[in-house]
Amino acid sequence: AAVCNGISEKQFKLSEIKFTKLFINGQFVDAISGRTFETIDPRSGEVIAKVAEGDKEDVDLAVKAARDAFDHGKWPRMTGMERGKIMMKLADLMIENVEELAALDSLDGGKLFAVGKARDIPAAADILRYYAGAADKICGETLKMSRSMQGYTLREPIGVAGIIIPWNYPSSMFFAKASPAMAAGCTMVIKPAEQTPLSALYYAHLAKLAGVPDGVINVVTGFGPTAGAAIASHMDIDTVAFTGSTQVGKLIMEAAAKSNLKPVSLELGGKSPLIIFNDADVDMAVDLARMAIFYNKGEICAAGSRVYVQEGIYDEFVRKSAERAKSWVVGDPFSPHVQQGPQVDRKQFEKVLKYIELGKREGATLLTGGKPCGEKGYYIEPTIFTDVKDDMVIAQDEIFGPVMSLMKFKTVEEAIERANRTRYGLVAGIVTKDTNLVNRVSRSIRAGTIWVNCYFAFDKGCPFGGYKMSGFGRDYGLHALDKYLQVKAVVTPLYDSPW
Ligand code: ADP
Repeated sequence: AAVCNGISEKQFKLSEIKFTKLFINGQFVDAISGRTFETIDPRSGEVIAKVAEGDKEDVDLAVKAARDAFDHGKWPRMTGMERGKIMMKLADLMIENVEELAALDSLDGGKLFAVGKARDIPAAADILRYYAGAADKICGETLKMSRSMQGYTLREPIGVAGIIIPWNYPSSMFFAKASPAMAAGCTMVIKPAEQTPLSALYYAHLAKLAGVPDGVINVVTGFGPTAGAAIASHMDIDTVAFTGSTQVGKLIMEAAAKSNLKPVSLELGGKSPLIIFNDADVDMAVDLARMAIFYNKGEICAAGSRVYVQEGIYDEFVRKSAERAKSWVVGDPFSPHVQQGPQVDRKQFEKVLKYIELGKREGATLLTGGKPCGEKGYYIEPTIFTDVKDDMVIAQDEIFGPVMSLMKFKTVEEAIERANRTRYGLVAGIVTKDTNLVNRVSRSIRAGTIWVNCYFAFDKGCPFGGYKMSGFGRDYGLHALDKYLQVKAVVTPLYDSPW
């Protein structure tokens, strides 16, 4: 099929993978057990490197370092501006090493190299710069008290943050969480996903070069049920920030409740609707819908996986979607003209193919795609189903792959009702020129973000997070700082108040 024309035998190889050990208290160290795990290139299934497999004892050591750096170190005690300067330095170092960093995420995660280099890594550096600028502006308020008292609030760093991130955006996720935590003055233990551990270790190295004191950023690579679970249930971690599946989000919240009641913030799955009304420019809408589900091979929590198209333009939309899906280039993520690389690993690859089979069995019509492509590696054709019913599993479950469900609707009320018929509430997209319709639908959809006539309009200044089972807490924007801060009220009598 034409869609597979980007696959080439050209294999990009880094001259060496520099960082493969745990980063604890400013040093790269082996796991206490001495164990390692293999990280795999999804283009071929070949091993890229062996990485230290951290477990509970390693998390304990990392937490001890972070605790000590928080309780006694200079990071929380220096001025916000001093922390901000170090963060700016780190951002500059990221840009100096942008090719190597982008290559690591492409090797580990099958992500497009050109996009990583031009967009993802620079955007991650900018997230850091945004919060660097906020670090010296964190302050409390003077309160209006009812008695003869003076009251004010302090906003203090919450302490040691546990940060558990997924594999689909290894760099953006690292800095979406670490940057506000750094600005707040927290110290942290970060566990990258086992599929994509390499860039996180590189960031630990750059942080040290930039002047981040030892113990402030610790990176423990390893698996979820071991290293991840040890973070969630640790008695000496003060908050956990998590991005990942809803299923694991529940485990994290449960572990937090059962241990020390640490607050958690959870950015979880989605099954986001993209609603396209009759007055839309069909060509623009087709391109937007295609990008909303095939970009990053559908491995985005915010993917527009349920596309609702109004009946007046439905037939044209279906025809054009089928045509354009065929010109979408799947192939080696290091080739500049490729639009979609391989799924991150065999497990995801098989999971997505299983959902495609299920969609066929449930009675949806396979409009295009539906098969793996290439001789090796975890590539899947961009896939579109029509005749999808709202209660089919493919319209309810997060597939996390390049699989679009297309559905037809008649009225605005129907679109709102059906768009909300999901346990998730992360994002919704709307395509129309009618501002009244935009306002009405934006206010009626229960989701944390509404993208109007655009999609994936992420911005470091714009809060992002879920309603319903997509979680709670916000990344990005000044809201994200709240996750890493405590509010302390200080009250003193005024004048000679007879307290
Ligand atoms: P996916 O299913 O898409 O791989 P997960 O939610 O499983 O997403 O993974 C997101 C992150 O959560 C990864 O870093 C993973 O290692 C971690 N994780 C998985 N299981 C657990 C767990 N039981 N406790 C803590 N972290 C976990």
